Amino acid sequence: MEATSRTQAETLPIPFDNSYARLPESFFSRVDPTPVEAPVLIRFNRALAEELGLDVARLEADGAAIFSGNTLLPGAEPLAMAYSGHQFGGFNPQLGDGRAILLGEVVDCTGRRRDIQLKGAGPTPYSRRGDGRAALGPVLREYIVSEAMQALGLPTTRALAAVVTGEPVYRETVEPGAVLTRVAASHIRVGTFQFHAARDDRAGVKALADHAIARHYPDLANDPQPYLAFLSAFADRQASLIARWLSIGFIHGVMNTDNVAISGETIDFGPCAFLDAYDPAKVFSSIDRNGRYAYAAQPGIGQWNLARLAETLLPLLDPDEEAAVTAANGVLKAYGERFQHHWLAAMRAKLGLSTPQDGDLDLVQDLLTHMHQEEADFTLTFRRLADLAADPSTEDRFTALFRNPASTSLWLDRWRRRVGAEGRSPTDTAAAMRTVNPAFIPRNHRIEQAIAAARTDADFSPFDALLRVLARPYDDQPEMSPFAEPPAPGEEVLRTFCGT
Ligand code: AMP
Ligand code: MG
Repeated sequence: MEATSRTQAETLPIPFDNSYARLPESFFSRVDPTPVEAPVLIRFNRALAEELGLDVARLEADGAAIFSGNTLLPGAEPLAMAYSGHQFGGFNPQLGDGRAILLGEVVDCTGRRRDIQLKGAGPTPYSRRGDGRAALGPVLREYIVSEAMQALGLPTTRALAAVVTGEPVYRETVEPGAVLTRVAASHIRVGTFQFHAARDDRAGVKALADHAIARHYPDLANDPQPYLAFLSAFADRQASLIARWLSIGFIHGVMNTDNVAISGETIDFGPCAFLDAYDPAKVFSSIDRNGRYAYAAQPGIGQWNLARLAETLLPLLDPDEEAAVTAANGVLKAYGERFQHHWLAAMRAKLGLSTPQDGDLDLVQDLLTHMHQEEADFTLTFRRLADLAADPSTEDRFTALFRNPASTSLWLDRWRRRVGAEGRSPTDTAAAMRTVNPAFIPRNHRIEQAIAAARTDADFSPFDALLRVLARPYDDQPEMSPFAEPPAPGEEVLRTFCGT
């Protein structure tokens, strides 16, 4: 029996094995995608499909029907997940997948379980007044940025495919409709825990925690205090993730608790953006009027979100409420230290320092302060510092990034002395720096150009070009050097939008 079903699963184009659909029915609503008029496959991520163990030839041939939701493959158990969430600090008990439908899960070639979800696949019981659809622009944006994050080496959801639906969606203007196929370690969010806690469903919180531990933190299953260990491990992943966001100049833009994945992956690429000139107070999102999710606010918001998860777990931490609160507070406090540790480690590496020394924090912070004052481009500053580590004759290219180039000399002297004391060869230092200081990031103006060409002329070549260059962000690609440049005057993107 077992053997038969396994053989059968192996011959399916997507060998589904759906653990979430086996959780209590209160966790989700079963709902099929709504078929669309005239789907066309824009892009299929062959490498990811292979990693997931999917039938690449079949998916490539029938991609338009499959990745639009028009054809449901055997083994899929479509459902919309229930969740709540704090949005900009205010609690909304009733969110859930309003335009996303989980088709099911697969176990990839390394044994990792991954969700396959259609985003923009039609209304669900959680759609409220929304149409359940996605516009082409946000779909391309998520495709580009999530795949760039993967290539940059950060934990992230992935993009398996994008289709246009042949149907319009109505936003501020009429937009082409599209569907993104998203792959994630899971779509369980802080808000998923809040959903059950808000209903005082303790059994639900426990079942979800057990599922999340088994799936994302399997080493903790036998811990004497598995729920505290889970909270603490999540805190560390969150601290590490946000430190890495800062280290590449990423602003998530909408760190609501429903957009925080329990797996520790980056999820929900709505109004996200990368810094050009360094400014810790930078905000791009049109709806973030008070800068709640500004670049440098992200670590603190990570802790705020962690506190919201901790609240849902209190009854599992200790039967005595006071003891539970004390335990949770210990994790919250440790988060601050963990963040600082991960961040300083990342920034040291960016400066080419392989061993910790007193004074490193000042060296990092003084550079950042200077970059801010002098409006230096975040990405190019570090990339050209790597060039400078190998070749002193490139100093002018580095200093030219600062409004007043001469102002960098004192800091550069300190940095040279500090790097010199490490005893690594200049070539080795530069090579190490180039593995953490990307040459290419998804610059906002490039994303907008790719979207504009696709939307107005159905020209996907800028989108394809951008994906190609961002697949190797740490390699110099001289023929692609315009993609490394910040926006020219007039090209700057001032605002980004959720695009819902
Ligand atoms: P987001 O801003 O993408 O994190 O979405 C917040 C909430 O709004 C989630 O519950 C989404 O499912 C829901 N939502 C966003 N866009 C739509 C839409 N077009 N139709 C239905 N629900 C939506
Ligand atoms: Mg969301």
